[in-house]
Amino acid sequence: VLRLEGVRKAFGPVTVLDGIDLDVARDEVVALIGASGSGKSTLLRTVNLLEPIDDGRIVLGGDDISDPRVKVDAVRARIGVVFQHFNLFPHLTVLDNVSLASRHVLRRPKAEANARARELLERVGLGDKADAYPDRLSGGQQQRVAIARALAPRPAVLLLDEITSALDPELVGEVLDLVRTLKEVGTTILMATHEMAFARDVADRVVFLDSGRIAEQGPPEQLFTAPRTDRAREFLTRFT
Ligand code: ATP
Ligand code: MG
Repeated sequence: VLRLEGVRKAFGPVTVLDGIDLDVARDEVVALIGASGSGKSTLLRTVNLLEPIDDGRIVLGGDDISDPRVKVDAVRARIGVVFQHFNLFPHLTVLDNVSLASRHVLRRPKAEANARARELLERVGLGDKADAYPDRLSGGQQQRVAIARALAPRPAVLLLDEITSALDPELVGEVLDLVRTLKEVGTTILMATHEMAFARDVADRVVFLDSGRIAEQGPPEQLFTAPRTDRAREFLTRFT
């Protein structure tokens, strides 16, 4: 579904992504781990076309989306994104937050967009909050709304960047449970996370980034129990 080929990205003199080759298959859940500053967020942002790349290609469903001529909005409609800080629109109800992209980007009729939004709110366990405003919800509930919103246009891939790191510890579980459910129904996910136990539990594959390079990747049981590189071993000992 998604392929990065030799992706390079520098900010001024600092190379942040240094030749990333990465494939994400349909229905696969891939976790990006690595130290702060290793390039996880930047990688996700390049996929969503928030950061232009300096070299390489990003291919989504066969289309080169790193081609500067692509229509950015059309590409973004095929990619769902949830970041650390839930950025729901405070002046819109939960329902309108979720249906907004379907209505305005995909130009679906309002009734259809709202029906889809209600179905998604049910799926994330917030069917009864459709008419509430975001500030009436807990952080965990807001983050679940953000996930529903990201799923509304039926994206080919869902990008999740540290979606639990701004939450109170007691709210983390409900959001992680939701990601687990999405995996069960076959959602293609590329997520950056500091939650090693979660990556181990839910990811089909774990990719360890070190200074903008993929130092090692593999199934979680292999990478977490028998890392092959010193860099991964050092990183993981700090988390276990
Ligand atoms: P964290 O675990 O803390 O979220 P990360 O792996 O997501 O870290 P990035 O946010 O991708 O790391 O940052 C990688 C590097 O790129 C860092 O050195 C960061 O300072 C730098 N960087 C990121 N965005 C910019 C920017 N807009 N301008 C300049 N440097 C940037
Ligand atoms: Mg980050």
